[in-house]
Amino acid sequence: MNCIFCKIVRKEIPSKILYEDDLVLAFEDIAPQAPIHILVIPKKHYSTVLDINENDKELIGHIFMVINKIVKQKGIDEKGFRVVMNCNSQGGQTVFHVHFHILAGRQMHWPPG
Ligand code: 5GP
Ligand code: ZN
Repeated sequence: MNCIFCKIVRKEIPSKILYEDDLVLAFEDIAPQAPIHILVIPKKHYSTVLDINENDKELIGHIFMVINKIVKQKGIDEKGFRVVMNCNSQGGQTVFHVHFHILAGRQMHWPPG
């Protein structure tokens, strides 16, 4: 499958990996939108959040445990951070392999762009 994040999972293209286990990979975003910009992805390919179903509850819970671990490791837990998932065209999704963005290191604003 011609999916750039699946290629990152298979180490066919390089990335700066911050966390890895059997189910999840976290790596630095190539075009950071904040001083800290990390992507957390399931190793299994899901195109969008719409592909996630009943059987994936444990995986999604696990991803949030990983996010929790990463923000503490990075020391951004106290000051704060933002977790974002974009879906489809108007949601601003550009890579169709489910991913959570962790953004931190500057003041976030609301509403988002
Ligand atoms: P989306 O717009 O789909 O929510 O987010 C996709 C993100 O993936 C973007 O922030 C973009 O910079 C990042 N990205 C795209 N291609 C690559 C890549 O090859 N390596 C890394 N590390 N990040 C990428
Ligand atoms: Zn993929």
